[in-house]
Amino acid sequence: MSEKYVGVDIGGTKTLVVLVSECGAVAAEKEFLMKDRSAGEVFDTISNVISGFEDFNAVGVGIAGDVDFRLGKLRVSPNLPGWKNISIRKILSEKIGKRVAVDNDANCAAVGSYYLDGKKKYSNFLTVTLGTGIGGGIIIDNKLYRGSTGSAGEVGHITINHSGHLCACGNYGCLEAYIGTSGIRNIASEFGFSGNEITPACLAAHARSGNKEARKVYEKFGYYLAVGLGGLINVFNPDMITLSGGVSNNYDLFSLSMTREIKKRSFAAAFKHVRIKKTDYARHLGAIGAALMARMELNQ
Ligand SMILES: [Zn+2]
Repeated sequence: MSEKYVGVDIGGTKTLVVLVSECGAVAAEKEFLMKDRSAGEVFDTISNVISGFEDFNAVGVGIAGDVDFRLGKLRVSPNLPGWKNISIRKILSEKIGKRVAVDNDANCAAVGSYYLDGKKKYSNFLTVTLGTGIGGGIIIDNKLYRGSTGSAGEVGHITINHSGHLCACGNYGCLEAYIGTSGIRNIASEFGFSGNEITPACLAAHARSGNKEARKVYEKFGYYLAVGLGGLINVFNPDMITLSGGVSNNYDLFSLSMTREIKKRSFAAAFKHVRIKKTDYARHLGAIGAALMARMELNQ
């Protein structure tokens, strides 16, 4: 019998649960809104959804926040106020009676993208998530690299300006402070935008309808992203980098300025080798990645 895995992507506004084959094809899915539900209610709903699925091997859970992978525990989440020190693995494995693996959502996205976008052909692989915040996942020699405390891959908190903007993490000059939603707002105000126009989606709509200033906002976004990616390429020498998250939908607006700047900032052989692309699996990537992360862990 072919193996199946369940993937759960817990977000600030909604949670997606999928049942996937061992190569990541979605066989069933269910999404629900988080509204003001407590963690207890959310895990009840998740286990109800999962109990409707046919037999499967294990469950993977991805969640935005600081996760202790070894303990299967969420330490803290920026998107879910009040969710602190939650033993997700223990709660769900007791309800479902299967093995459960829990990791940061960006790590799950990287595993998903490694299987789906990279088709397992690229052993050194990075995924950068572009949204309200900036996240990342690192795969080295076909394995997810978590670092010593599970904190690796925090691409958004690389310093790109030693005395730059204050970041939500408390540091100054982080990449996230330049290209996360608040960073994009700063760039936009430099080019004369204000008020309701300043959302990544609105700016993209303006840019696509020919607004030159809005195009410049995304060019500058690409430039800052490249400062971060150029450094990552020099450190990791990856085969492939994929970009995911809502803002990656505007890849057409920033890819030129990004590529031009990466070329200047990375070593020639590494630049020539790396493939950079937007993921082809936007909506399901986190949930599929969570399922495949569980598979990766069980098979190691
Ligand atoms: Zn930061």
